Amino acid sequence: MNSPDSPLLIDTHAHLSMLDDHNARFAAQRKTPLPFPGAEALVSGLFAAGFGGIIDIGTEADDLPGRIAAFSRFPRVRFTAGLWPDPPNIAGRQELVPRLEAHIAAAPKGLVAAVGECGLDHHQDLPPGTELDKAGEAELLDMLLDMALRLDLPIIIHSRDAPGETAAALAKHPGVRGVIHCFSYGKTEARTFLDLGYHISFAGNLTYKNAHNLREALTFVPEDRLLLETDSPYLAPGPCRGKPADPGMVAENYFLAAELRRVSPEVLGEQIAVTGEKLFGLVLPPV
Ligand SMILES: [Zn+2]
Repeated sequence: MNSPDSPLLIDTHAHLSMLDDHNARFAAQRKTPLPFPGAEALVSGLFAAGFGGIIDIGTEADDLPGRIAAFSRFPRVRFTAGLWPDPPNIAGRQELVPRLEAHIAAAPKGLVAAVGECGLDHHQDLPPGTELDKAGEAELLDMLLDMALRLDLPIIIHSRDAPGETAAALAKHPGVRGVIHCFSYGKTEARTFLDLGYHISFAGNLTYKNAHNLREALTFVPEDRLLLETDSPYLAPGPCRGKPADPGMVAENYFLAAELRRVSPEVLGEQIAVTGEKLFGLVLPPV
């Protein structure tokens, strides 16, 4: 990706503020840690090498100001603000959703590209004896869908082991646009989300050996609804699996997706850049 002929790459879903901690934990577990220059130096290096853009994703009510302070000096980074559906965010929703909205309102104009990530996750590892408050989780998602409509922002949806419930929630909020990020289902579910007007984004698990359903779904998504992402620092693609993922690794997803869709990586890069720009208002370098 460093050569001038390489495709234009954007990563539509990364958690930049988690990179330092995640790499430090990874290094502590290994005798020979990987060299890691720190998140800021890494992002700086990516853009110096021609990287197209990064959407930095929020998960907590108060994480937006710190992320903006750390990464808004990069003109091709945009930010989202959301509440990941863990038990504390579900339980605190009445207080946390207005707080999140206040942070979005206070952010410099044009930096916040979407609401999310948020959604339904029925695969959570909860402490024994704890049950997920599914009704509360659904209400939290409803509140954030309402917010996205009110603020006229797209929404980034996380959905795990809950395709029907997710589709039902989105169907209740026509007029909201957005993306099903880190798509983890198959062709049938892709069809449902596309029919609801949503984009579909694939992460590094696309490259995993057993992910036939994802690769099949990928070939089925129309080009103007398709996005790629890393979900960095999670889900490092095939050759890098097991390591913390950084946004540069999205290149692996582009190369595999291009092969599966029988287009060149350059063409796919331009398509996704245009789609990302339309959905999120990313400022892109001239192609
Ligand atoms: Zn994420």
